[in-house]
Order: sequence, then C-alpha cells, then structure tokens
Amino acid sequence: MNRSIRSAAVIGSGVMGSGIAAHLANAGISCWLLDIVPGALTPEEEKAGLTLEHPKVRSRLALQAIARLKKTNPAPLYREAFADRIRPGNVEDHWTELAHVDWIIEVVVEHADVKRALLQRIETVWKPGTIVSSNTSGISIEAMSAGCGPELRKHFLGTHFFNPPRYMKLLEVIPGRDTDPEVVRFMTRFCERTLGKGVVTAKDTPNFIANRIGTYGLLVTLREMAANGYTVEEVDAVTGPAMGRPKSATFRTLDLVGLDTFVHVAQNVHDHVADESERRVFEVPSVLRELVARGWIGEKRGQGFYKKV
Ligand code: NAD
Repeated sequence: MNRSIRSAAVIGSGVMGSGIAAHLANAGISCWLLDIVPGALTPEEEKAGLTLEHPKVRSRLALQAIARLKKTNPAPLYREAFADRIRPGNVEDHWTELAHVDWIIEVVVEHADVKRALLQRIETVWKPGTIVSSNTSGISIEAMSAGCGPELRKHFLGTHFFNPPRYMKLLEVIPGRDTDPEVVRFMTRFCERTLGKGVVTAKDTPNFIANRIGTYGLLVTLREMAANGYTVEEVDAVTGPAMGRPKSATFRTLDLVGLDTFVHVAQNVHDHVADESERRVFEVPSVLRELVARGWIGEKRGQGFYKKV
C-alpha cells in the first residue's frame, strides 16, 4: 500500500498529547489536538450569560491550549509559528474529522476502559486503512483492541512516545497479534525518518520494555529510601546532573511524568503479571497514593515532590 502521513488527530491534550501534537507540527504535519476538557467560564463570560458551548468560549479555550504549548518549558515547538499547524478543539465538535486524517493517535488517560471505549468509538468513523495508534505506557494493545473488528485491529498498534516528545529520541512501537506487518514497517520508518525517533520494537507485555524496567527501578528506589532514610533531594542528587544525566533526576522526572499517570502504570504491571513475587514488587506504595489524593500530581498541577516555581 502506498501510504503517507500528512495529517493526524491527537486525542487527549494533556502532558503527552500536547507534546506529541507539537512534535508532529515540528515535522510539518498538520494535526487536530482534541480533548474533552470543558474548561471553565471566565467571570465576564458568566456575566454575559455565555455557556461552554458558545463559539466564543470554545475559541478562547482552543487559543489557550495553543498558548500553553508556546509557554511550556522546555519548548515543545521548534518555532512558535508551527503552532499554526495545530488545531485544538473539543473532541465532540470535531469527531467526524477523524475520517479525514492519515493517523489517529489516542493519548487519553491511562485507563484501559476509557481507551477501549474510545477505540470502539473511533471505529465508527474510521476510514478503513487509516493507522490508529495508542500512546499507552503499558496497557495491552491486544486487550485494548479486542472489542474492535479485524480491519481496525490490522491497522492498530502502540506508538509509545517518551516525555517530553520533542526531546526524547526513544519511541517504542508495539504491534498487537493482528497488526499488519506492513503497518509496523511503515510506522517504524515514518517515526525514524520523519519524526527523528530511535525506534525499539517491543512485545505486547505489561508496560512493554522501558516502563517495565523504569517502574521497577522507581518502586525499588522508594522502598530503599523508606528502609534507609534517603531523602528525595539525596536521590535526585545522585541520579541527576552529578551523574552525567542532566535531565533525569528520579523525582524531577516523576513530577514531569505525573504521579497519577505513574500510579496507573505501576498498577498495570501489578495487575497483569502472573508471578506472585513480581506482583509484590509492583505494589504501589502508600506515599504515592497519598500525594495523588492530595492533588500533588506533579508539574501539571504545580506541585508534586517539588513545588513548581
Ligand atoms: P494527562 O492526564 O496529562 O492527559 C490526559 C488527557 O486525556 C486529559 O486532558 C483528559 O481530559 C483527556 N481525556 C480523557 N478521556 C478522554 C476522552 N475520552 N476523549 C478525549 N480526551 C480525553 O495524561 P498524559 O500524561 O498526557 O498521558 C496520556 C497517555 O500517555 C497515557 O496513556 C499515559 O500512560 C501515556 N504516557 C504518559 C507519559 C508521561 O510522561 N506523562 C509518557 C509516555 C506515555
């Protein structure tokens, strides 16, 4: 099949969706950036009797999404002007646009049920042959697409970007059992040549490769800290710049990822490994759940292990 990707729709405009849309814009691809987030009315809009459905309010929210991308540090766009290639909006308003793009990327919250339902809904407007992928951190590609027909399953795979998408070269490609090998070959070449990624093909095992190892490392680190009294600052001091890894201090990275997302990612392995002793390793420590319950979920809310200044 003679394929090319010139347009895309990114569904989910959180930490990763917005970064992925920006990186696609960097590569010259025009894309939709769609979300369900309704936002809130400003006091002026409320006074004027407007609702969230009003075109004026919708367009303000869309412009705000682009403004956020321009302000993010480090900059996700090579040039601010590339933001013109991104069309943000509410997923409900632009649902039928999914039939007109070359690639649909699901980047919503790390919940298997939400992703499964979304994929089945995508199938209702999907133009046969269009590639559909998920940015899941570790949910089974097979299980996610089990409720879809064989044609969609042939065109569905995992394309797992790392955070931040512009700067992290790694990308895991995860074929499901039914993914057409031609689709896997095409996406691998496309992600390498057009998006500048270093692609690793991973098996569809819980959390694939990078997050299986990374999650394990972090959970063991937390246990060792509790047992030996190491502090967050001490661990970051030995896993960050002083170690020759300027951007990867353990807890700075966790704040960037989002503690809520990390909890789902760890829980996913815990729930899907058969071995009892391995399952125990992936139990989420209460300190993480407490921080999430308090709303301290990382940079996206201004506070995680560190307060954003
Ligand atoms: P996030 O919480 O920042 O954003 C998720 C977005 O999805 C939210 O804006 C939410 O409103 C939206 N959403 C939820 N349900 C939706 C629906 N039905 N339709 C449209 N939008 C919907 O999460 P994130 O960190 O961007 O993670 C997104 C995905 O990427 C997850 O699968 C996550 O595991 C994966 N991932 C995250 C990271 C990371 O560092 N945060 C890295 C790699 C992969």
